[in-house]
Amino acid sequence: EVVKHSFHSLNSARKILVAENDTKKSVDGILKDLDIKGSIDYGVTAISLGSTDFGGLYSEKPLAVISPAGADDVGQVIRHALQSPTLTVAARGNGHSVNGQAMAHLGLVIDMKSMADNKKIDVNVNYMYVDVGGGALWGDVLKHCVSEYGLAPKSWTDYLHLTVGGTLSNAGVSGQAFRFGPQTSSVTELEVVTGNGEKIVCSNSQNSQLFFSVLGGLGQFGIITRARVLLQPAPDMVRWIRVVYNEFDDFTHDAELLITSQETFNYVEGFVFVNSDDPVTGWPSVPLNSNQSFDPTLLPKKIGPVLYYLELVLHYSNHDDPSTLNMMVEKLLGKLKYLEHLRFETNLAYMNFLLRVDHVEEAARGSGIWATPHPWLNMFISKKDIDAFNRIVLQNILKSGVNGPILTYPLLRSKWDNRSSVVLPQDEIFYLVALLRFTHTHPKESEIKQMVAQNQEVVQTCIKNGFDFKLYFPHYESTVEWKRHFGDQWERFVDRKRQFDPKAILAPGQKIFTRNH
Ligand code: FAD
Repeated sequence: EVVKHSFHSLNSARKILVAENDTKKSVDGILKDLDIKGSIDYGVTAISLGSTDFGGLYSEKPLAVISPAGADDVGQVIRHALQSPTLTVAARGNGHSVNGQAMAHLGLVIDMKSMADNKKIDVNVNYMYVDVGGGALWGDVLKHCVSEYGLAPKSWTDYLHLTVGGTLSNAGVSGQAFRFGPQTSSVTELEVVTGNGEKIVCSNSQNSQLFFSVLGGLGQFGIITRARVLLQPAPDMVRWIRVVYNEFDDFTHDAELLITSQETFNYVEGFVFVNSDDPVTGWPSVPLNSNQSFDPTLLPKKIGPVLYYLELVLHYSNHDDPSTLNMMVEKLLGKLKYLEHLRFETNLAYMNFLLRVDHVEEAARGSGIWATPHPWLNMFISKKDIDAFNRIVLQNILKSGVNGPILTYPLLRSKWDNRSSVVLPQDEIFYLVALLRFTHTHPKESEIKQMVAQNQEVVQTCIKNGFDFKLYFPHYESTVEWKRHFGDQWERFVDRKRQFDPKAILAPGQKIFTRNH
């Protein structure tokens, strides 16, 4: 048996080697004139990196994965692809998409995270901005800006192992976005390599068409190789608070009050949790540290299957008088109608707060569920439909939770620049809804299918009820659906494509356009 097994393994290894050699020959042919300072890799490990993402639902093998030395290499790769009739190019940030958006079937994946230019994180203290490579991780930008200069970008995502170019190609939202807009609203300049292979610096006043096309442009118009991000003084500490609601009306009323008041918290988010003792989705998911616990006897007798909490943060400095800080917290909380005594709070260094999801990642890696599939669904829904969405979707379809966090919090449309490529619902106030699903440790295919089907059910329910919504990180397979997604912005999107990537070389994994000659 052992001999048979060894022989079999040897044969498989030989087959892989032959296949690798064949690929190498064909790639060598296609890429023989590609002259870059960085590296081209068509080995098994590189191809596996290029064909996987956080979602774990799709896999498209590229021909090769490129680690560029800088923007000029990115330009070489795109110009090379332009000369071929079929090659496509996908920038891969940290591959944290969930539906294969950073993949390129038999194309070239550019591993932006490995770009040598990322090492330059240049802070300009006088003008309060940082110039940073498109493949840099937001976590590295944070650590550098705070520890070296006491400064920080204004708008974040909840999790920071995401690249600058990756989030700017979507929007980048978290609890600061009600005040500063998404991350795309605090960028003043970009260096972009377009689908025409040209390296162009653009801003609000210089090549502005390209600038606004690329922001929220789903990677369709150019590859972001550098971004200029606005900074502000970083606080030392945060007071981190969660307050619980059983009435959705009170929850949304308070959330909207906070995001529209002058005097308010620095961060406002909202979550949905299940009225049960489930450690992942229920009461235990609410307290902020292990010495706090959720006492369900404090809940009213008659309540629905799901409850809500607002997550709030107030910045402060080490020099602030604690009693002044407490007074400010009480004043802000005093306006809210949360359930008395169901309030949790803690103090944390600012940087630790922004890196808070690292602990979740560590635990999920430990139990194996970071690497299993994540059929996530993110959407924006107009305020006018959020009550009905709560009744039909949150309290009903999702009444048992999604085995991971459900986020819902309001944002202000006026903080988003409508010249960017992102499309939003109509109302000035709209809600982000995020279903961040995790599977069990060894998920059966049926478990994943069920999750995907439930996402579809949610989307179909929104369509059937005529809700005004847009997918965030949209994923569609047909032109009809993409047209519907962009609505009256479709023509503008197509025009931008014609101008900046006429051969549809870039980001084929989004499945919006097809490569043409
Ligand atoms: P990738 O997934 O690698 O790429 C995304 C798309 O952008 C692809 O089409 C790719 O081709 C393109 N692209 C990548 N880099 C560039 C570039 N330099 N220039 C042009 N196009 C490029 N999002 C939020 O807004 N808020 C959150 O709080 C948030 N939390 C998250 C938490 C987790 C655990 C995860 C997995 C994701 C989260 N996201 C959040 C989603 C995240 O913003 C997206 O996954 C986004 O795509 C960034 O990931 P990435 O850098 O890995 O990009």
